[in-house]
Amino acid sequence: MEIEEIAAVDLANILHPTAGRKTAENGELLEPHASIYPYDVKLDYGDVLLVPGTATSVASRKDVDLCSSVEFSGQEQVRYEGVPVMAANMDGVGSLAMARALAEHRIFTCLAKTHTTSALVEFFRSDERLRDYSAVTIGLRPENIQVFREVSDALGGLGYACLDVANGHTMRFVEFVGRFRKEFPNTVIIAGNVATPEQTSFLAEAGADLIKVGIGAGSVCETRIKTGVGYPQLSAVLECAAAARAVDAKIVADGGCTCPGDVAKALAAGASFVMLGGMFAGHREGGGKIVASRFASGEVDAEGRPVIRERRFVQFYGMSSQLANEKHFDGLKPWKTSEGREVLLPFKPSLGDTLRDLLGGLRSTCTYVGAKSISKLPERARFVRCHDTHNRVFENM
Ligand code: 5GP
Repeated sequence: MEIEEIAAVDLANILHPTAGRKTAENGELLEPHASIYPYDVKLDYGDVLLVPGTATSVASRKDVDLCSSVEFSGQEQVRYEGVPVMAANMDGVGSLAMARALAEHRIFTCLAKTHTTSALVEFFRSDERLRDYSAVTIGLRPENIQVFREVSDALGGLGYACLDVANGHTMRFVEFVGRFRKEFPNTVIIAGNVATPEQTSFLAEAGADLIKVGIGAGSVCETRIKTGVGYPQLSAVLECAAAARAVDAKIVADGGCTCPGDVAKALAAGASFVMLGGMFAGHREGGGKIVASRFASGEVDAEGRPVIRERRFVQFYGMSSQLANEKHFDGLKPWKTSEGREVLLPFKPSLGDTLRDLLGGLRSTCTYVGAKSISKLPERARFVRCHDTHNRVFENM
C-alpha cells in the first residue's frame, strides 16, 4: 500500500506512555505527568480518500471477486472463504436470524453474547455452513466461557470464538486469551478491542488470531466523550495491521464505518475484516424492537381530511449503554457510567438492499483502484489526505 501525504506507518512513531520520559534505574518514571509528542496527526476514515489507479485493467464491476481466502497462522483446519465483513456482536445486529441471512451471502457474524447454549447448539446444527460464518462471542465472565465449552462439546468443536471486552488493554484480558488458547487450540480466536500496535502484539502473542481494533469509534459509542480515550480509526487500523503482520496475525477493523466507502478504506488500510454495527442495524433480521410513529403529513385526501402516515423505527443501542446494562447486567452499577447511546433508526425493510449497496460499493472501489479481487485492495490502494470527502449540498433536505 502506498500512502500519499500520510507518513508511512512507522511503529517507532507510536505514542508510548514512557517514551522519552526520564526513568530511575528501577524503571520508575521520574516525570509522572502525561506528555504530548509532536507526532503526525492521526486520521479517521473521513480524513482520506482512495486515489483512482492509472490505466487499470479491471473493466467491469461484475468481474471483481469480493470473497477473500483468509488463513490463520497455526490453524490449518480453519480457512475463511467469504466476504471480509463481519456483523458486530451487538443486540440488534448479532442475532441468529441475521447470521443465517448473512451466511447466505458469505458474510460473517459475531453472535451477540446473550444466546443460550441450547439456542446456539440448535443454530449450528440446523446448517453446517453456519460454522464457517459465525462465531460464538463471550466476555470474561465464567458463565460465558461455560457456554462456549458446552456448545463446543456438543458440536465436537467450534471454528471461531470472539472474545470481546470493552477494554482489551488489560493484562487480565491478555491472560484470558492465553488460557482460552490453551483450552481450545483449534479454534480461531477473534479478540479485542484494542487500538494500539503494542496491545495488538500482546494479544497475538497470547494466542489471538484476529485482533479486533477500535476504541471509541462506534456509531452508538460514547467512550471518547465519557473518558477522553480513543485513537482515530484509520490510523489505528494502519498501525495495528502492521503490528499484527509482524507477528503473523491479522486484524478486524471494528467500528466507525458510516458508508461502504469507509469499509473499502478499512480493507485498503490492511484490515483482514471489517466489523459493522450501525450499518447492519435497523433490519428485521436484527431482532430489535420496531416502533411505529404516526404523523400528519401536511397533505389532505380527496375528501379534504388530513393524511396520516406511519414511519417505523428500530431501537438500537450500544452494548455499554444504560439500556444494555439494564437488559443484561441487572442495571448500571454505581461505579460505572454508560458509555453507549440509544437511538431510534429508520426501519430498513430490506437487508438485500443494504447488502447490494455495500457489496456494489466495494466492487466499484476495486474497479477504480484496479484490484481484481478484494484481497488485492491493499496492494493497489493509495490514500490522499483531504479536508472534505464529498459534496453535502443536498444532505439536510
Ligand atoms: P459501528 O459499526 O456501529 O460504528 O461500531 C460497532 C462497534 O461499536 C461494535 O462492534 C463495538 O466494538 C462498539 N460498541 C458497541 N456498543 C458500544 C458501546 O456501548 N460503547 C462503546 N464504547 N463501543 C460500543
